[in-house]
Amino acid sequence: MIVDLRSDTVTKPTREMLEAMITSPVGDDVWGDDPTLNALQDRCAAMFGKEAACFVPSGTMANQLAIRAQTQPGDEIILHQESHIVRYEAGGAAALSGCSFATTTGDKGFFTSDDVHRLIRDEDAHFGHSRLLSLENTHNRGGGSIWPLEQLTDVCKTAHSFGLATHLDGARIWHAIVATGIDAQTWAKPFDTISACFSKGLGCPAGSVVMGSKDLIHKVHRFRKQFGGTMRQTGILAGAANYALDHNLNRLEEDHQLAKFLAEELNTICGITCNVENTETNLIFFDIDSSIGDGPTLCRQLTESGVLCEALDPQRIRFVTHLGVSKIQIDHALAVLKKLCD
Ligand SMILES: *Cc1c(COP(=O)(O)O)cnc(C)c1O
Repeated sequence: MIVDLRSDTVTKPTREMLEAMITSPVGDDVWGDDPTLNALQDRCAAMFGKEAACFVPSGTMANQLAIRAQTQPGDEIILHQESHIVRYEAGGAAALSGCSFATTTGDKGFFTSDDVHRLIRDEDAHFGHSRLLSLENTHNRGGGSIWPLEQLTDVCKTAHSFGLATHLDGARIWHAIVATGIDAQTWAKPFDTISACFSKGLGCPAGSVVMGSKDLIHKVHRFRKQFGGTMRQTGILAGAANYALDHNLNRLEEDHQLAKFLAEELNTICGITCNVENTETNLIFFDIDSSIGDGPTLCRQLTESGVLCEALDPQRIRFVTHLGVSKIQIDHALAVLKKLCD
């Protein structure tokens, strides 16, 4: 039995999703006449309470377009040092938008108004321009953590009061919506732009979206062309995204429950510790005592036994639950791990 716990990006489109893809009417999106895509963009804008939305191939491009549309070369972006934009986007903000980072630290990927305050620079010819605040919800390296709404609102308010724009990297915002019952509009309200991914927990083969005001999305649309991200019969992908919003959003609750169960069971294995309370969504981080070995080695042993995973740090491994993983597979993964730790 293969159990793929590396990421929720490994999900494959189901027969029903493929059916939705091949039966969706399509047009040429460069001409703006793909009806399925236009409907999806309108649906996302309405769902997140913004004027407009623009579909793009990946979450990375969504973030990079939001940055490009709201900054000038020499500007500075305030964000957490463990955020995806800092760690995993190949230096895109510097390469594509000429921006530097002013980074915060903080548990679970969170930071405070005071942190933002401290990083905002005075008007002085020596300094970069503090221009954009970006935060991540749920926070990937923070363990799929959900920002407290009040703290998130407060941080954005501070940024706005200094004339900064605000961006939400909402690759996994769906998990925050389902886990808290707080709707997309409420999460999105404090932000000028939001990105969200269809290709992770929602199970689509590709696709992300950027949302914001008409003016900002007009810019995003233009830069998407410049970045080479405009596609033609995009309705095939939009058909998958529409299907996912109808059928795969609410079921994320199952992934969260399975993650909690997994976290609790991991804790019963000698030499492994997992913070159950911090396992809020579908990402499970656990630490390995050096008496058992190290993360990369255990990860390789697990993979060789059919349990695919990722070593995040020398003593830390990540498991991810998603629609391609059942309770039976989780039980199997636990049995394999127990044997290896014996
Ligand atoms: C995965 C991810 C992205 C990027 O998405 P890709 O589609 O892989 O480019 C951006 N932000 C966060 C928080 C992510 O987890």
